[in-house]
Amino acid sequence: MSASSMVSVFPCRTCAMLEVRASKRSANPRLGVGDPVSPLRPGIWESRRCRGELPSSAISVVTAQRVDPQIVRGQSPLRSLSMSLVDGPILAVVVDSDRLAAGIVDRDGEVLIRDRVGTPNRDVWRSLERLVRRVMAARPGEIPTPKTVGVSSTGFVDLRAGSVTPDTMTAWSSFPLRQHLESLTGIPVALDTAAGASAEAERWVGEAIDIPSYLTLMLDHTVESACIVNGARVRGAHGNGGSLAHLAVEPEGLSCGCGATGCLSAYASASAIEAEMNRPLRRATTSIIDRTGIMVGRAVASAAAVFDLRTVFISGRVVDTFGDTMLDSLRREVSARSRLENLADLRVLEPTGLIQPLVGAAAVARLIEN
Ligand SMILES: [Zn+2]
Repeated sequence: MSASSMVSVFPCRTCAMLEVRASKRSANPRLGVGDPVSPLRPGIWESRRCRGELPSSAISVVTAQRVDPQIVRGQSPLRSLSMSLVDGPILAVVVDSDRLAAGIVDRDGEVLIRDRVGTPNRDVWRSLERLVRRVMAARPGEIPTPKTVGVSSTGFVDLRAGSVTPDTMTAWSSFPLRQHLESLTGIPVALDTAAGASAEAERWVGEAIDIPSYLTLMLDHTVESACIVNGARVRGAHGNGGSLAHLAVEPEGLSCGCGATGCLSAYASASAIEAEMNRPLRRATTSIIDRTGIMVGRAVASAAAVFDLRTVFISGRVVDTFGDTMLDSLRREVSARSRLENLADLRVLEPTGLIQPLVGAAAVARLIEN
């Protein structure tokens, strides 16, 4: 498919998706839960982040003449394009419980091409392999070949082995994803957790550019978090450092999928809450919502005390669904438990925009180049 033929299709698809994601509460920072999955939804030239108020220049569209000059801010569109691709774009891959996504992202964090499929129950690698091949095949000639691959995966990662174990994907247990992608693409592959990728994206193109220490906490199907302290990622022995999912927030509390009791994951993941209630998140009672806020508040207060943090970014489907009721409980709990002077300014914030997961994956690849 040529770039010019893509133009006739993509702008409408792209605008439709932006309308969905412009609403903060209805959108999901991971892979757009609630956004219908189609087997092939390629998009091109999308903004790295969709904010509540989209500036007119938030989206650029490749045209037969390459770039629409009316929607590139303050500089020559061709210069913008060439500068952003001077080091080659990044092939980004996202592995999530519900979706697999792949795309090509430029050096400014703009998604040039993207595609995604629902995560199958079987033959996950075959689906991902086909997806990556499709994205690479859709690359117009004027976009250089990617030189690195960035991957974000839900669940446990082992950076030494290059393997992933997504919580909800029984087909993959210690799956050697890095090796498979390196064999497929022939270029270096960098791997990270979903929250790690989000944290890296926040300091690349997001709201943490000037914040040296912060925690990124995502309450989605699973609980994912990552921490950056004085500009350095907390990685740990395997690459999962900064994870609060299995922090004990209620001794002798609910059973967790890990085998322990009282973990944050048992109280704050969408999967655990829905299983306990036997109904969807949106039908949760006020007491469940308050309890979720309290448990997350306990975990946040503990992490803030350990890492001496002032900023916590919180996002995900649970936050979107439970909203201010949960956040109020959370902040009250954090305040009650953070009595030390250095924690007086601790802030729990929802990012004002939603960074696309593919941008997070691309942010991971930048780490192996620097
Ligand atoms: Zn646990």
